[in-house]
Amino acid sequence: MVENTAARRVEKLSAVKGMNDILPPESARWEAFEAQVRVLMRRFGYENIRTPIVEPTALFVRGLGEVTDIVEKEMYSFEDRLNGEALTLRPESTASVVRAVVEHSLLYNGGKRLYYMGPMFRHERPQRGRYRQFHQIGAEALGFSGGEVDAELILMACALWKEIGLTDVALQLNSLGQPSERLQHRSALIAHFERNMDVLDEEAKRRLHLNPLRLLDSKNPAMQGAIEAAPKLLDFLGEASRAHLDTVTSILSANGVAFSINPRLVRGMDYYNLTVFEFVTTKLGSQGTICAGGRYDYLMEQIGGKPAPAVGWAMGVERVLELLKEQGLDTVGAPLDAYAVIPEVSALPRAMACIQQLRDAGVCVTMHTSTPDGMASMKSQFKKADASGARYALVFGPEELAQGGVTVKALRETGIPQVIQPLDHPAQWAKSLQSNA
Ligand code: ATP
Ligand code: MG
Repeated sequence: MVENTAARRVEKLSAVKGMNDILPPESARWEAFEAQVRVLMRRFGYENIRTPIVEPTALFVRGLGEVTDIVEKEMYSFEDRLNGEALTLRPESTASVVRAVVEHSLLYNGGKRLYYMGPMFRHERPQRGRYRQFHQIGAEALGFSGGEVDAELILMACALWKEIGLTDVALQLNSLGQPSERLQHRSALIAHFERNMDVLDEEAKRRLHLNPLRLLDSKNPAMQGAIEAAPKLLDFLGEASRAHLDTVTSILSANGVAFSINPRLVRGMDYYNLTVFEFVTTKLGSQGTICAGGRYDYLMEQIGGKPAPAVGWAMGVERVLELLKEQGLDTVGAPLDAYAVIPEVSALPRAMACIQQLRDAGVCVTMHTSTPDGMASMKSQFKKADASGARYALVFGPEELAQGGVTVKALRETGIPQVIQPLDHPAQWAKSLQSNA
């Protein structure tokens, strides 16, 4: 019976808007970057933490603040169909890390330095450098109050830029002071914007008395003049807050780290106090912030734990990699060592036994595979071997196998003689295939 296949064709599915597949070869850049980050974190004594992607909605509402962009309009929140729980796909990880630290009493014998990497979710308008699922790498130092830890985190980010070769980033710093200082600034801020009501958009008007600091974070061009002229939190800082900022800046200067003080830098969440900072580039359009963070000494308490100071940052992996691409540094060379050419199906068991031992010895090998018609011609197998980027072809031909050997043929470099190696003792010659051996 002949069926109408066209009519039965299944509708194609695609990824959710703003959520990307990360495919080879680009995924190799991701892996390499993540590996560099892991090494660096270890060097600074930061340990890995992995928290769930789904959290109770209340964690973010309480942690980030009700009147923030994320909580007001960007969260993927839903009700669990089975038990009605209010859940949210994490829009960031600081609140989750703090929850986990409190839940497991991780600070029982002193401070903890932690890092994480993984996907975050925000319902924003997708554009270059702004996605609905994106990836952050974050570092959090919890239980430490000194400004030297703020500086350590900033130096760690700088070390990462250096490690990966990123040059075009500028560091901006500010201090948000302490709650009492903010309260005084708040009154001055409200009074200032009340005098400038005509330029405020609807959102700003609504937020003015709820959370006036948020107005400084507005991207509305019409409001920039009023934002420029607004009273600066820096002018409301007391002695201790100033001293904290001085500690940070003097350590940065001693390390040759350039920075500028941006009195209008306030960050998007309510949990920050004292130091806030952003690493910014001009190369990615308006999505120029690649890493941002600050101190959040009151979040632990707000989430229901014992009060403890903390500081951290999060970087947008997509933006960092995009910037590397701008600088022409996006390729990573990790070619295959060898491609197995297997002329006959009957050779597969012996060939794969040999390949397995090569892999055990650290050689990167892929192999040609069969179709229902058997193995392809030598010519087309060699074509594939060439296209794979492998440095060597391993030929498991009947003549070689008969004498217990496999032919090793260089595919790229000239002047390397073709040799037959012992099939049953791959460990003896595995090293000769490895570029870094
Ligand atoms: P922006 O002002 O660009 O919206 P943000 O203040 O909301 O950034 P944070 O919450 O501080 O960003 O997140 C830290 C970093 O994560 C940002 O500096 C950025 O590099 C990255 N990031 C934030 N939102 C997105 C997104 N939607 N897509 C890609 N990267 C993002
Ligand atoms: Mg945002």
